[in-house]
Amino acid sequence: MVWSFFKVDKSSHFHQLNIRHFKHTLELNALITIPKPIESGHNLYSIDDVREVIMKIREQPKSCLNMVGFFERFFMEAINTDAIISLCKKDLAIANEALRLIAQYENQEITLQELQNELVSALSQFKQNSILFEAPVQKTVEFVTHITILIIIVMSILVLFFTHKIGTAVTAVLNKRSEAMKALAKSEERIKQLAYKDSLTGLPNRNLLEHTIETAIAKADRQAAQFAVMFVDLDRFKDINDTLGHSVGDTLLVEMAKRIAHTVRESDSVLRFGGDEFVAVTDCFDSIETIDNIAHRIIEAVRKPIELESMQSYITASIGIACYPQNGEDCNSLLKHADAAMYQAKNAGKNQFQSYDMQSGSKLNRRLTLAAQLHQAIKFDEFSLVYQPIVHLPDNQTIGSEALLRWTNSENGVIGPDEFIPIAENAGLIVDIGSWVLEQACKQCKIWHDAGAKNHAMAINVSTYQLKDKHFTKRLTDTLNKHALSAESVHIEITENSAITEDKVSVQTLHELSELGAKLLLDDFGTGYSCLSYLQNLPFDVLKIDKSFMPANNTIASTIIAMGHELNMEIIAEGIETYQCYQFLRNLKCQYGQGYFFQKPVPAEQFDIFKKFIATSL
Ligand code: C2E
Ligand code: MG
Ligand code: MG
Repeated sequence: MVWSFFKVDKSSHFHQLNIRHFKHTLELNALITIPKPIESGHNLYSIDDVREVIMKIREQPKSCLNMVGFFERFFMEAINTDAIISLCKKDLAIANEALRLIAQYENQEITLQELQNELVSALSQFKQNSILFEAPVQKTVEFVTHITILIIIVMSILVLFFTHKIGTAVTAVLNKRSEAMKALAKSEERIKQLAYKDSLTGLPNRNLLEHTIETAIAKADRQAAQFAVMFVDLDRFKDINDTLGHSVGDTLLVEMAKRIAHTVRESDSVLRFGGDEFVAVTDCFDSIETIDNIAHRIIEAVRKPIELESMQSYITASIGIACYPQNGEDCNSLLKHADAAMYQAKNAGKNQFQSYDMQSGSKLNRRLTLAAQLHQAIKFDEFSLVYQPIVHLPDNQTIGSEALLRWTNSENGVIGPDEFIPIAENAGLIVDIGSWVLEQACKQCKIWHDAGAKNHAMAINVSTYQLKDKHFTKRLTDTLNKHALSAESVHIEITENSAITEDKVSVQTLHELSELGAKLLLDDFGTGYSCLSYLQNLPFDVLKIDKSFMPANNTIASTIIAMGHELNMEIIAEGIETYQCYQFLRNLKCQYGQGYFFQKPVPAEQFDIFKKFIATSL
């Protein structure tokens, strides 16, 4: 607190105490009078007038406030100065005290010196009292200041904290957002990858095919040029997959994808169509030789040896080619025709490429037509069985027969099993068809048994899909029971490639069949990828050497026969067409034979169950 000044005006005897709180703009003005009338204009104010005012202040502090105007006016007039009395509510008690002290001298004359002394003492008391007032104010001010500072600090801290928090939160949100964006971008990328990229080989997948071909069409149209769609299918991939397992199959696919992709030009595209099928869409070309060159290079790249399970393996590819615009003007027809050409390449012996022609187109149509008609074949009684004798080579006696399926369709005539069985397998019809064969063959076997050929064995071909059916053994048992046949009466022929399977149900079925007492024959032996140690774990009784190893001056046939002896397995040689072949097999001590040399497959009514072939007459 600052006391500004007090002043004793000698000339007018008027003393003004001006007390200021500079800091707080709290202003207290006290008027000190001397006992002498004050002249103001026409009025003369006595000390009593002043005392009255002072008394009023003392007695009626509150009303003083209302009287401020009066005081002001009074003193303005009285002293004719611009001194202002302003007593605000808070100051009232302090002012009263000061005035009380001063008022003690109202009735006596005091010297200026005395007054001055009194004032000093009054002021000091006033000051002391004021501290009571000032302190809280000061404290309040300090408090307020401190609080303000504190608040500012706290606010700052809070601001900092929240700024930090908010910053962190914002950063976190932003980070999260950017992470989310990244994750989103990643997922988008992943979705794109899943949608358009083949996860195994990393090549674009078939979802991108339409776009690729349409882009190529647009470009070819602009340049008035042509381009080719190549359908590449690995030959016998399924065999490798079934034989060596899916992971080896995958390794093979990845390697082949790489080879094919590296073989084509940079401007060509290679996509995985699915399974072991790839499609190459070439850039525009000027001469057909360019396309032949590419196809040739793919064939060569695929057939290079590949190491699978520490063994050099070989695989080939068949390629079908359709060129735009001559072989198709849109994506669908180009693909369809390239696919048809690929089948033509397969049929022509695999490991080659074929360009689309009308003939291959009609082959595809035929496949589709046959698939549709096969659904009705059992209902329309279009199947029949023919039988081919199995001959005991040492004495040329018929000991059994193989039941071979035929399909005669009113539209398509007689269709061979090599053609329709794969279609039936793909169409999921083979289990039903196989059951029909089982029933018919057993029925026929029983007829022949009843006719006196008690030991006649009926060999029945069973597809890999039937083996995978866990009800197969039961189905066979039921059929045998139905015809009162023992399990020894039937021989179950399973092709080598179907036998080499990782499928647990198939392996289980094989063991069940063996336990039942049915002989198991490994058909088309030598054409598959079988590993002998694996085969030894399966309950096969007989090896059927594939007809492709006849004529029999073939070292493969002799090796298989020797091996069969070694393994204590019986051997049947199929596809014996000539006397030399027959003799050769007999010399090798091959026990059984089958082939056109003895008899072509015939319907049951033409089959002589007791026939003993006369070797000299052959
Ligand atoms: P497969 O089981 O190896 O049957 C032998 C095939 O060789 C038969 O062909 C037979 O007619 C033919 N063949 C017999 N002797 C000779 C010969 O001396 N020279 C030549 N070049 N061929 C001869 P087919 O009847 O056309 O049957 C082909 C294949 O279809 C069969 O081969 C078998 O795998 C399958 N198949 C036939 N019937 C059925 C069946 O009912 N179910 C299943 N799942 N497959 C069957
Ligand atoms: Mg067979
Ligand atoms: Mg065979």
